[in-house]
Amino acid sequence: MRQSLAITEIGPERCCNKCGDWWPDDAEFFFMDKGKTRQPCKACYYQLPSVIAKRERRLAAREPAHDQ
Ligand SMILES: [Zn+2]
Repeated sequence: MRQSLAITEIGPERCCNKCGDWWPDDAEFFFMDKGKTRQPCKACYYQLPSVIAKRERRLAAREPAHDQ
């Protein structure tokens, strides 16, 4: 598995294998699993078609009506 990590003057940064952008290697920009950051970055994760569909289904289920 390809892991791109760079140490910059503001701390470690990781290259997202999907968008190719560099992000701080922490839980704000990546999901963590067992103390490690996971690919892709959160921005890419939320753009995955399966994630978007899942989120829309959940929102639809939570808001069945527009009144109230
Ligand atoms: Zn990304």
